[in-house]
Amino acid sequence: MPFSNDDLDFTYPLPADLKNRPSCYLYIYNRKVVIDPLSLPGTQTILHNDIKDIKTKRIVQYVGSLGKKLFYAIGLESHKDVPYGMQPVFLRDLIGKIDDKMLALAGRAVQLVDFELTSRFCGRCGILTETLEDRGKKCPECDLLIYPRLSPAIIVLVIKEDKVLLARSAHFMSSIYSVIAGFVEPGETLEHAVRREVKEEVGLKVKNIRYFASQPWPFPNSLMIGFIAEYAEGEICADGKEIIDAAWFSRDEIPNLPGKGSISGHLIDWFMNRKEEGI
Ligand SMILES: [Zn+2]
Repeated sequence: MPFSNDDLDFTYPLPADLKNRPSCYLYIYNRKVVIDPLSLPGTQTILHNDIKDIKTKRIVQYVGSLGKKLFYAIGLESHKDVPYGMQPVFLRDLIGKIDDKMLALAGRAVQLVDFELTSRFCGRCGILTETLEDRGKKCPECDLLIYPRLSPAIIVLVIKEDKVLLARSAHFMSSIYSVIAGFVEPGETLEHAVRREVKEEVGLKVKNIRYFASQPWPFPNSLMIGFIAEYAEGEICADGKEIIDAAWFSRDEIPNLPGKGSISGHLIDWFMNRKEEGI
């Protein structure tokens, strides 16, 4: 799945005996990934072999390793730091153009540089923070701890016998339907968030909630946690704000769906390939 790959090693801090291994660099500017536009499409286009082209201020973050190679994110603070001939592109525009390993590295690099840029000062007393060994920051005045922010969001495929619940979001282009999703609230379990989101958005109760898979979704810092649930009771009633329309669809009635690359596509593929009733 895009933005996730189990082959990448994110162990942090980097063990001292690995520090002399060959390194590659991702240049990040304004949450965009700097590519050499002449080399697209290809898997190496987001990687740079050195940092000699970066003349001015920069932020260096260790991202992870793959085999014997180490990857570092170089955060550029100004557009004039982008090397001549290279182009910053949105992460979203790289989906399907580079492989999932590179996309996972790029998503992580963007978020680590962003954390560095937004955690320099304590949010409580405004003074400079100190960097801890484990990626965190600490305020020397009030001891506030800051870590890279993740926003967990549930995404759930609801089934009723041989049909699936799909909904049209107010944020989608017309005629595009997808599964139900929403951010987890403070104090909620993931299962609680699934029940609440389905109830809020389409007025249904669900049961037998089962974990499906998860996917980092760096727009800007979500972690999508996918579930499958069964219809329990209620009549569909779209909330009219987040959801404009919702309905049960059988396999041969599936409407237009969002583009591939997200966990919602994998959930719907699971439904399409499901052999028997139940989950
Ligand atoms: Zn403070």
